Amino acid sequence: GPRVVVIGAGIVGTSLADELVLRGWGDVTVIDRGPLPAAGGSSSHAPGLVFATNVSRTLSDLAAATVEKFRGLTSEADLCFNAVGGLEIATTPARLDELHRKAGWAAAWGRRARVVDADECARLHPLLDRDVVLGGLHTPDDGLADALTCIAVQRRRAEAGGARFLGDTCVLGVLTSGDHVVGVRTDAGVLDADIVVSCGGFWGAQLGGMVGLTVPLVPMGHDYVTTTPVPGARAIADRRSGHAAATAPILRHQDADLYYRQHGDRIGIGWYGHDPVVVDMATLYDDTAGQPMPSMLPFDPRSFDDPWRESQRVLPALRDAEIGDGFTGIFSFTPDGGPMLGPHPYLAGFWVAEAIWVTQSAGAASAVADWMVHGTPGVDVSGCDVSRFADAELSAEAVVARSSRAFVEVYDIVHPRAQPRDARDLRTSALHADHLRRGAHLGVSHGLERPLWFGSNAALRERFTVDTPAFPEWFTREWSPIVLSEAVATRAVGAMYDMSSLTRVEVTGTDAVAVLGPLVTRDLDRPVGAVVYALMLDESGGILSDVTVARLGDDRLLVGVNGPLDVTRLGAAICRARADGADVAISEITDDTTCVGVWGPRAGEIVGPLTDLDLSPEGLRYYRCAETTIAGVPAVVSRVSYVGEFGWEISTRRCDAVRLADALSERAEYVGAVWAGRGAMDCLRIEKGYRSWGTDMSRTDSPHEAGLAFAVGKEHDFVGRSAVRERPVRRRLHTIVADDPATVMLGGEPMRHDGSDVGYVTSATWSPTLGRTIAYAWGPDELRPGDAVDVDWFGTPQALQIAPPVSVDPENRRVKG
Ligand code: FAD
Repeated sequence: GPRVVVIGAGIVGTSLADELVLRGWGDVTVIDRGPLPAAGGSSSHAPGLVFATNVSRTLSDLAAATVEKFRGLTSEADLCFNAVGGLEIATTPARLDELHRKAGWAAAWGRRARVVDADECARLHPLLDRDVVLGGLHTPDDGLADALTCIAVQRRRAEAGGARFLGDTCVLGVLTSGDHVVGVRTDAGVLDADIVVSCGGFWGAQLGGMVGLTVPLVPMGHDYVTTTPVPGARAIADRRSGHAAATAPILRHQDADLYYRQHGDRIGIGWYGHDPVVVDMATLYDDTAGQPMPSMLPFDPRSFDDPWRESQRVLPALRDAEIGDGFTGIFSFTPDGGPMLGPHPYLAGFWVAEAIWVTQSAGAASAVADWMVHGTPGVDVSGCDVSRFADAELSAEAVVARSSRAFVEVYDIVHPRAQPRDARDLRTSALHADHLRRGAHLGVSHGLERPLWFGSNAALRERFTVDTPAFPEWFTREWSPIVLSEAVATRAVGAMYDMSSLTRVEVTGTDAVAVLGPLVTRDLDRPVGAVVYALMLDESGGILSDVTVARLGDDRLLVGVNGPLDVTRLGAAICRARADGADVAISEITDDTTCVGVWGPRAGEIVGPLTDLDLSPEGLRYYRCAETTIAGVPAVVSRVSYVGEFGWEISTRRCDAVRLADALSERAEYVGAVWAGRGAMDCLRIEKGYRSWGTDMSRTDSPHEAGLAFAVGKEHDFVGRSAVRERPVRRRLHTIVADDPATVMLGGEPMRHDGSDVGYVTSATWSPTLGRTIAYAWGPDELRPGDAVDVDWFGTPQALQIAPPVSVDPENRRVKG
């Protein structure tokens, strides 16, 4: 194996060393600036509560893998994991509802969880006052990980396999040659390396800075106290010592931002209720001087008055105790709550595994080890990849604002449609002012504001009446029935959609087709004017993305992709090709251009009079594009549709956008078409069977499983080709349709068949065309149209059926015009 240096001997760096050695990479050196084994990072004092239930399937899977590993490493001598179980309590009706929703995620992702009543809560946790709780969520597989024991056991095994651990050694710089790493410089000299992995915990941004990589994590202080002995706790203490001396389940009281664990006859209490404490890394060592380690800030006991009173209310035995010790520990928060994993896009051999809780530590280390050794992480890392953010999202202000919000909301009830409240307007479309004038309700995608629906369309509800059932209040949050009217208007007349948030890159050069071709599943060597929908796969045949490639010239391709990850991935591939002498270049043009979709049966009447181009269905055929002028401005017109209606995507320079949009609006008014938002688009694309990458499929899924086999060329040679042929179909993305018009869902709900959990919902919409909910759900390959399934809504099963893949216009008549 290659020579690997891991920076950081916390739970993540040590787990990673162990995982690499297990995969046969024995030449691993783990370096930490602190003394070993408790190096002074967050892992050195981690209370180690592991709750595996998470809205993110990936984070839940990584947690389950962590528990499995630490349970396996547990012995009489090394109590790595103590499976006391987990209990989240509700003291408000809203929280009790939320626990039902959480039980849904658990079932969806394959974890054990059960909503229990107040008596059962009190039975499970003997210190709880039965009368203050309304119910709880019991997760029997959760428990306590002893981070330092897990570190010791994994280190021992890694060392036996050849790894070395160096304490008291600070990495001062990363050595590079050309586009790859060659080693690290430390205060004890230089170490050669083929691969350097940064596992520096909350020091991660500084370490990334050594190689020009922005790692958007923010070190924050978090209060944790331990009580003096509690008489009631003594009675339930385990005979074992130290970290494992607990029998009571780990406890969360999220209505008050509190959590608890047992340390023998004492209780540990963590609190997220204080204002975010952003740590200034420039003064870290001064701020923590005199503390036991640099990850501990001085603690102010007065700040704990309120949580202490609340704790005594919920756990009355605490009234006979006091706060013993307390500290403000430091660990990382990130703008979206996800960890930072993966390779540096432009510096080969530099990897990152940071902003990871103990909860996900070993699972994340295993995924990163697979990624490094086998080229694929085995889990959907789209929400964890260090390159997932747009540049505009990476300013220090935006990162701190959003990460602080993530701290504040860590235990909040967050609606799945909720939009970020901070760091808004980082990027706006050229039509932003127009949208605001039309009363746009805005959402964010990669930092870019985009309309979800338009308040000015309120009157449409009378023109296009949609008979809806009474929806539950939760379903109508961050939503408006205008969405349905905009969808109906699109199918009845036509609508314009600002598609600016579609990430667009231009690939140019005589080798553009030759370089890009093998990265996608279809042959791009088509005549000028052809548009191709294709997939990018990884070596194992998993779907990295779906893309639309328009051939504008012999040497010029316009590529619509899914976001920053794709831009980075293509950018890195093109960089390598250029280094090998290819004539190819890439530039992202998203913010320099504007794209408007015009779709619907009367789309031709909107655009036709504004151009000389023959826009008849036979003139510019389906999946063809042309450069022309529209309303006097140069534009690229592509005959594609994400809503299943006749029409085009029209791209133009940003400076011409308003002129184009004004002309389109004027024509639209004449024919009775409107501007519509993302809500309507989502509704229409699900009706039509179109997938959304990242929501409906990821790199864990093959084209066959995701229903996208049609996008894989038979003759074409591409990355992942042999794997995609050999890969067995393990599950399938099904379309499901509700029996009862009143059924609703939002995605992430578990799906059952014949009484067992078999899968989960990805995207869902209430369809105005069908008059009921239609959704996609992953489930067993064997399910067939007509099979009955049910999907939970806050714990209540709702009946649905497996439906054919496309519900509206399966013959493509409407799209074809
Ligand atoms: P660390 O343990 O911080 O390790 C990083 C290491 O990198 C450090 O040892 C540091 O010395 C080293 N390093 C940095 N820079 C350099 C350099 N230049 N050269 C050499 N070495 C360097 N998580 C849970 O899952 N459950 C909980 O209940 C929980 N409770 C918490 C309570 C508190 C009070 C705090 C503060 C955190 C809690 N966490 C919890 C979070 C958890 O502790 C951390 O997320 C986790 O320990 C991070 O592990 P790590 O290995 O990434 O980082």
